[in-house]
Amino acid sequence: MKIILLGAPGAGKGTQAKRLESDFGWPQISTGDLLRDAVSKKSKLGLKAKSIIDRGNLVSNDLVLEIIKERVAQEDTFSGFILDGFPRNIDQALDLEILFSSLSKKIDRVIYLKVDHDILMKRLTGRRTCSVTGKLLNIYFSPQRDIDECINSGGKLLQRSDDNEETIGKRLDVYNLETSPLIDFYEKKECLFVISAENEVEKVYSELLVSLEIS
Ligand code: AMP
Repeated sequence: MKIILLGAPGAGKGTQAKRLESDFGWPQISTGDLLRDAVSKKSKLGLKAKSIIDRGNLVSNDLVLEIIKERVAQEDTFSGFILDGFPRNIDQALDLEILFSSLSKKIDRVIYLKVDHDILMKRLTGRRTCSVTGKLLNIYFSPQRDIDECINSGGKLLQRSDDNEETIGKRLDVYNLETSPLIDFYEKKECLFVISAENEVEKVYSELLVSLEIS
C-alpha cells in the first residue's frame, strides 16, 4: 500500500507511520528525518538544509524531490511505503504525480490527520525523544512511568532544535499557508480520508486501519 499522511507538524504522522511500518513492513519515508540525518552527517545537503529547518521554513522543492526519488528507487519500498511530510505544497504534489507516472506507480490513499491548533502547540512544545531508546515522549501527555523509564536507564529527554516556540509558530504558519491547500487538492481527486487525530494513538491507529480497509 502506498500512502501519503497529511497533517500539521505534531499531528502524529510520524507515530502512526511507525506503527504501520512495524505492522505491515511498509517503510516510513519522512523527509524531515532524512533531512535531519543529512544535517547530523554534515553532508552537503545537510549543510544547506540546517539553517532553513532551524528557521521553520521549507527546504527547496528540488532538494526534497531528489531525496524522494532516491528513496522510492530502493527495493524495500516496492510493495508499499508511507510518505510522512511530503508533499508539503502543491508544487511538490505535482512533482510527485509526474515522478510516479514516469515510474508507473500510484498512491493508494491520502490520509489527513486532523488536529486542533492548541493541541498541536502542546504536542510540539512538549515533544521529546529518549536518548537511549529513541522512544518519542511528551512531557505533558506521556505517562510518568515512561518518562521515568528513560531517565532511570540513563537517558536524556532530547528536544528537536526546531521544537522551540518561535520556530513552532513559524512551522504552523508555513503549514497553514503552503501545506493545508493540499487537503482541497486531494479532496478534489476523491482520494482523501480525514481522521480526527486528537484521540489517543491507539484509537487513531484503529481508525487509520479502517480507512485503509485493513480491519
Ligand atoms: P518534519 O520533521 O516533517 O516536521 O520536518 C522538519 C523540517 O524539515 C521542516 O520544517 C522543513 O524545514 C523540512 N522539511 C521536511 N519535509 C519537507 C518537505 N517535503 N519540503 C520542504 N521542507 C521539508
